[in-house]
Amino acid sequence: MSQCIRMTAIKSFWKKTEALRLIFEKLRISILIFIFSFFGANTYFDLNPKWDKPVYIVLHPVNPSNSEKVKTYINGLKQSQFAEISKYMSDYATKYYGKRVSINYVLASPISNAPHDVTEEQASTILGVLKWTLQFRLYAMLNLKKEDIGVDGVIYLNYAHDDRATLNRSTALQRGRVALVNVHANPEDDRQTNMIIAHESLHLFGAQDRYDPYYGSPIFPEGYADPKQIPLYPQKRAEIMGGYIPMNERDFLVPENLDSVIILQQTAKEVGWLDNANKN
Ligand SMILES: [Zn+2]
Repeated sequence: MSQCIRMTAIKSFWKKTEALRLIFEKLRISILIFIFSFFGANTYFDLNPKWDKPVYIVLHPVNPSNSEKVKTYINGLKQSQFAEISKYMSDYATKYYGKRVSINYVLASPISNAPHDVTEEQASTILGVLKWTLQFRLYAMLNLKKEDIGVDGVIYLNYAHDDRATLNRSTALQRGRVALVNVHANPEDDRQTNMIIAHESLHLFGAQDRYDPYYGSPIFPEGYADPKQIPLYPQKRAEIMGGYIPMNERDFLVPENLDSVIILQQTAKEVGWLDNANKN
């Protein structure tokens, strides 16, 4: 008899515990959805940031393989090494907008959870892209840090363990303003990483790629830094959304750093830097 009462009490206890666990789980998801919808609403519905106010982008280093090498590299990252992106973007924005624009890149806390990379197969179908988009939004929600609240964009710097590994494509979502940048954990690549961060941030603000999605070659003339140059080749610089420096009709180089890329008017227009100039 007493054994039966004890078993009933144990079952009742576990039922209550399970019910509490489910309530907490629902509460956790509701809080995340509330935070995302409340603080992320402006980044979801406003396609361009408000350039009259300082703009902040946080950079989360990610160590997906949990490797000691990447961990040491991430521990050695300094805020100052990203200052050139802030200067580059602020200077171009100010030039086009017609008054001072402040764009700031802030090194934030590291994350160990690996984001889903978009595979070439996924990228080739609408359903694949949609699935990855949802996965990446969920990743951003589940890894939401206090540094992300109220900012204009969040970029995950996904560091590969192997310096020679072929990197998956970097991607950015304008709605929600989150980007995944796949890079090598090697100080020699740091300035090229900054150039990629600038390219992906422009996507967050509304800019489109200006290179052929299949061959990767910059589209003429809008993907060229100097389309009126005579002779046309080799080009000395890249338009930042053109992605590459054309050497001839078939060959093109990846720019090594921000010194080799410029931002032309079409990109400035897409991100809203010409809106203020048009008002005057
Ligand atoms: Zn791009």
